[in-house]
Amino acid sequence: MGKSLNRKDLDEPVQKPYRKLQVDDLPIIDVPETLDYRKLLADYEAQHGRPLRPIQRRANAKHRVPDSLTCPRCQAPSSYLYANNGGKGQYQCKVCQCRFNHRNRFTKQAVFRCPHCKKTLEKIKERKEYHIYKCKNNDCPFYQANLRRMTKKERQQFQQDPQAFKVRYLFREFLFDFLPLASSSPIQPKVDLSRLAASPHVLGLVLTYYVNFGMSSRETAAAMKDIHGVSISHQTVLNYANSAALWIKPFVDRFPYELSGSFCGDETYIRVKGRWHYLFFMFDAVKKIVLSYRVSPKRDTLSAIQAIDDVLRKLPSLPDDLSFVVDGNPIYRLAQHFFAQHGISFDVRQVIGLTNEDPVSEEFRPLKQIIERFNRTFKGNYRPTHGFGAEEGSVSFVTLFVAYFNFLRPHSALEGRVPVVIPELADLPHMPARWTKLIAMAQAFLQQEAA
Ligand SMILES: [Zn+2]
Ligand SMILES: [Zn+2]
Repeated sequence: MGKSLNRKDLDEPVQKPYRKLQVDDLPIIDVPETLDYRKLLADYEAQHGRPLRPIQRRANAKHRVPDSLTCPRCQAPSSYLYANNGGKGQYQCKVCQCRFNHRNRFTKQAVFRCPHCKKTLEKIKERKEYHIYKCKNNDCPFYQANLRRMTKKERQQFQQDPQAFKVRYLFREFLFDFLPLASSSPIQPKVDLSRLAASPHVLGLVLTYYVNFGMSSRETAAAMKDIHGVSISHQTVLNYANSAALWIKPFVDRFPYELSGSFCGDETYIRVKGRWHYLFFMFDAVKKIVLSYRVSPKRDTLSAIQAIDDVLRKLPSLPDDLSFVVDGNPIYRLAQHFFAQHGISFDVRQVIGLTNEDPVSEEFRPLKQIIERFNRTFKGNYRPTHGFGAEEGSVSFVTLFVAYFNFLRPHSALEGRVPVVIPELADLPHMPARWTKLIAMAQAFLQQEAA
């Protein structure tokens, strides 16, 4: 008997299972030695009795090299780099002679080897976002073991259609134009809260209703009128929220959190402009601090990479025992491989049942509880907004919610403390005052960074 479709079903996202994809172990990555262009230039001068000159460039756009580009092997600046093929992204370094591709600067020279037989992998496919490498060694123990595991029937099918089986070791080399831990220049928000036509207390009240109590913008406007006698439109509520989110985001993202080194993550659904998006969040499993909260239309590897990068960039240094606990989605293993390509290694522990009804082991139950609590609190508070500026509105709400979760919301697992205790906030009598103070601190933080 088919389940009847009720209103609630229509209102929930389709629980699409993620693409099942077998992700093999990491390959052995041989990174060529790195060189220092300053030493190479000094050697050149000692040998030739004159310095190696930077490249004389013709005024021809075809041969232009981006100023920010450096040689991936010796770090020589752009003035020593030739554009090799008329601006199509291939370059050669005058100092160390290495050739490289802008899209794939680091790994161009790396050699990938099979972790099972140590043979060099062969590139078998070039896709837009990644290349696929394969171990073609017939004596490879991985391949041999997979062959042995086949039933008689499978072996017959395999003879006829070998492509239908995944028996050989595969590795995906991602080509995202994304450098882990790349520094980003602080973005100064363009709004001036002092020019908002609201008293700080009104703003604090609006945020308390809208974020802490999860009321819609219309309900918030009604509460402001009916309880406080303040007439504002629901659009004004959204404008306040957008402005406050812009101010608070740098503070939330760059606050010097004290972290434990144990992190977990998940994706939840959020509706943006009438369409389901994914909210990727990562947090410190011990301190209950949200460290990443990206909204993406896709549940893809790049989103997982960015979420993990948000966590890594908050660590003063990368510990040896760094680990991420996530659900079974292969994107996290693929992200792990991407970071390994860039010399950053960590463990990914995939726990089936972390985010659904399946039971999990004693060890992971606390993590499951954190994720469920965050999800529940978020879903309880999030009201999708419609109409003009809805996309911005959804992201603003997520930012404010994370500020609330990290700095304002008492957490039962922390004996009623907020995850990040700021004494100036704790002493205040009520929530609107805390929001106002938090925004003032965020503003001071920005001014400090700009100075
Ligand atoms: Zn070089
Ligand atoms: Zn092999």
